[in-house]
Amino acid sequence: MKEKAVLIVCDGLGDRQINGKTPLQMARKPNMDKLAEKGICGLMHTIAPGIIPGSDTGHLSIFGYDPNVYYKGRGVYEALGAGLELKRGDVAFRGNFATVDKELKVADRRAGRLKDEGKEFEKSLAGIKIDDVEVIFKSTTEHRGVLVFRGSGLSSKISDTDPHADGAKVLSSKPLEESREARKTSDILNRFTLLSHKLLSENHLNEAREKQGKPKANIILVRGAGSYKRVDSLYERYGFKSACISGGALYKGVAKAVGMDVIEVKGATGRTDTDVDAKARAAKDALEKYDLVFVHVKGMDNASHDGNLGDKVKMIEKVDRLVGGLMKSGAYLILTGDHSTPVSLREHSADPLPIVIYGKGVRVDDVKKFDEISCAKGGLGHIRGLDVMPIIVSFMGYAKKFGE
Ligand code: ZN
Ligand code: ZN
Repeated sequence: MKEKAVLIVCDGLGDRQINGKTPLQMARKPNMDKLAEKGICGLMHTIAPGIIPGSDTGHLSIFGYDPNVYYKGRGVYEALGAGLELKRGDVAFRGNFATVDKELKVADRRAGRLKDEGKEFEKSLAGIKIDDVEVIFKSTTEHRGVLVFRGSGLSSKISDTDPHADGAKVLSSKPLEESREARKTSDILNRFTLLSHKLLSENHLNEAREKQGKPKANIILVRGAGSYKRVDSLYERYGFKSACISGGALYKGVAKAVGMDVIEVKGATGRTDTDVDAKARAAKDALEKYDLVFVHVKGMDNASHDGNLGDKVKMIEKVDRLVGGLMKSGAYLILTGDHSTPVSLREHSADPLPIVIYGKGVRVDDVKKFDEISCAKGGLGHIRGLDVMPIIVSFMGYAKKFGE
C-alpha cells in the first residue's frame, strides 16, 4: 500500500533562546504541538553538524541530493524558478537592473526598485548573441532577473560583476580557474555588461524616469554563476510524483531541478503576508494528483534577517494554521526548516532544526511540544538533512529492501 506525504519546510525556522525561550517556544501553535505529541520528533542537521546551510544547499539536502555533489550555483535554481528551461552546459546567474554613472560607479544597485517596468526594459536585451553565445535575460520581480548564457565551452567558475554595494564600481568578471572556458565566459560577461549599459541607456523608459527624478535602470549586474546539468529526478529515484508550492523563485527552482512540478498559488508571496490558507488548500488539492507535496514558507527567515522577533513568532502562529489545515488530509505530515536563522544573529546558523513526522505507524515518542529543546528528546534523535527523504520514502511505502 502506497501512502502520500506533505513536507512543510519553514525557511529559517530554527533559533536560539532569548531570555530562556526560542521563538517556537514563545509562539501559540496548538497544531504543531499536536503534531509533536502524536508524531515522532528529532533534531535535524540540514547538511552536517557545524555547517551553515544556504537555502539552496539546505533544500537540496532535504530532498536527498548531497549538495557537495549536486549543488551547481544559485543562478541555476533562480533561472529554473523563473520558468526558464535550461540546457546542459548553460551558465545561469542571478541579476538585477541597477543605476550607474558614466564611470560605471553604482548609484543604486536596485535602480530604485522597479515596479513592473522590468518587462519593458527586458525587451532592450532580447536576441543578443556575443560570438557563439546566446544571451537570455528574463526579468522577474521588481529589479530582479536571471541571465543565461547558452553556447559551447562555458564555465561557471567566474566572479560576479555586482559589487554588492552602492558607491562602488561595477566589477570586471574574472576567471576563478585556469581554463579556456572560464576565460571565455568572464570575457562574454564583461562584454554583455557594457552592452547592457548601452542598450538600456537607449530604452525610452529611462528618459521618462529621468524626467520624474527616478534612478535609471541602465545596467545589468550579476552574481552567483551556476552551470546546469540535469540530475536524476525524485520520480526516477523512487517512482512517485511530486510537486512544489512556494512563493519564492529559488525554492521553485530547486524543486524543479529534482523533478518536481511547480504549482502556482495566488497569494503565495514568499513574504510574511503570504496566504497560508490558500497554500493549505492548494496542497490538499495537489494530493489528489501527486504523492509528495512540498510546501515552502519563507516568512520566518525574512523576520529573522530583519532581527524582528515579534514577526517571527507571528509567522510561526500563522503557519500553525497551515499545519492545522493539513492534519486531516490522511497524508504523512513532515514539518521542519531548512536552517536556523537566529533573530539575534540576523544570519543563518549551523544550529540543528526541530523535525516531526506525523502519520500512520510512526513510533510515537514522549515529546509534546514542537520546538528546538523538546524535539531534542525525540525518537528520531539527531539526523541529517540527507536522511529526511529516505525516511519519508520508507513511510510512504516506496523503499526497497537492501539485501535479502
Ligand atoms: Zn532558507
Ligand atoms: Zn535566509
